Amino acid sequence: MSTLQPVRGTHDLLPEDMRAFRHVVETGRATAGRYGFAEMATPIFEFAGVFARTLGDTSDIVTKEMYTFADRKGELLTLRPEGTAGIARAFISNGLANETPFKVFYAGPMFRYERPQKGRQRQFHQIGVELIGVPDPQADVEVIALGRAILDGLGVRGNVTLELNTLGDAESRDAYRVALVGYLAGHLGRLSADSRERLERNPLRILDSKDEGDREVVAHAPLLGEYLNDASKAFYDDLKNGLMDLGIDFTENPRLVRGLDYYGHTAFEFTTDALGAQGTVMAGGRYDGLIKTMGGPATAGVGWAAGVERLSMLLAEPPAADRPVAMIPAGSDPILKREAMVLTERLRRAGFAVDLGFSGNMGKRMKRANKVCARVAVILGEDERLARAVTLRDLDSGEQTTVALDRMEESLRRMLAGAPEVAVGGI
Ligand code: ATP
Ligand code: MG
Repeated sequence: MSTLQPVRGTHDLLPEDMRAFRHVVETGRATAGRYGFAEMATPIFEFAGVFARTLGDTSDIVTKEMYTFADRKGELLTLRPEGTAGIARAFISNGLANETPFKVFYAGPMFRYERPQKGRQRQFHQIGVELIGVPDPQADVEVIALGRAILDGLGVRGNVTLELNTLGDAESRDAYRVALVGYLAGHLGRLSADSRERLERNPLRILDSKDEGDREVVAHAPLLGEYLNDASKAFYDDLKNGLMDLGIDFTENPRLVRGLDYYGHTAFEFTTDALGAQGTVMAGGRYDGLIKTMGGPATAGVGWAAGVERLSMLLAEPPAADRPVAMIPAGSDPILKREAMVLTERLRRAGFAVDLGFSGNMGKRMKRANKVCARVAVILGEDERLARAVTLRDLDSGEQTTVALDRMEESLRRMLAGAPEVAVGGI
């Protein structure tokens, strides 16, 4: 273990990676804004109980994946593995029960001790939304529509499928649990140790197991859909009709369950074939039990979270970097170098993005201008300096014009906008 390596399962985001990453987050943020979701942030660590109690003590996250540590006073803290529990905690701590519907967007790092592989990291990032306080299935329709709009904005919607299921209400799940346990008990020997342990405490979680043997048993298990009461069926029908009204295609997947304990009714995932085994890019559902479980007032909620790394990998090509202006002192007189720095600062203060190579002759500096994809070069040679002027060269067309220094910003702005230089001023 070299301390010069990043910790296993963590990654540096170099500037080029960061561009794709930011595009995902910014598209999410802007789209969420259009749907009326305001951004908020919660701390990256919370008391361990915030997650341990709410995610359910049989969930993978709580049993195997949490980064929990004692701080210097011995307080047990956890690096957040997901966003919903922290937001629910904040909803309660800040006394927001009268502020519903409470609609928020968030973005940030999450931490899970997982086996790292493509699309699965120990520090990863999510964007997510929560719509709290609305028991009506229209809320589910809205958050799904928002998720789809973000995938659309990223140009990846053609690569993903919306899978939908219902977990019904508590009464329906209780009836189903009896049937499921009856079935699974008959195949005990073929279940994994983990699943045998869950059989009593949370058999529904076995449906979400990634173990091959479990999956074979589960493939023939009774389906929750057969145990839905009328209220649960009506809720699910309203959701499906709402999605159809908006022209949102979905595939029903009766075996889709969410890994966390606080979900009921709606469960959904946007999945893709393009990322190998880690095919879920966005996942969510309804969690009407969560806030009460945490000690707050009974409050409905629905939301989703999406993996920023997985979405970045799906992007056809990352958005191009903004193209700067390159400042190029041309000549050996040291005064040109100093003057170039002064002009660079003047342009930056005026709002231009300006790249200044720190050394080299004209040829080397032009090379650098190409490397940073500069759009225009501002060339300051001896002649220009003496004439209180600069030469602006359009690096795409090769056209150039010399302008007086006091018209530099105005001319540059026109050139960047693609408009021809009209009155040729200067020398
Ligand atoms: P998986 O089945 O892939 O383990 P999950 O059910 O644990 O996913 P959620 O808790 O629903 O995932 O998180 C929502 C999204 O966050 C996932 O769909 C995925 O895009 C992303 N995600 C979850 N865990 C990781 C991880 N370890 N590395 C990268 N992205 C992740
Ligand atoms: Mg997981």
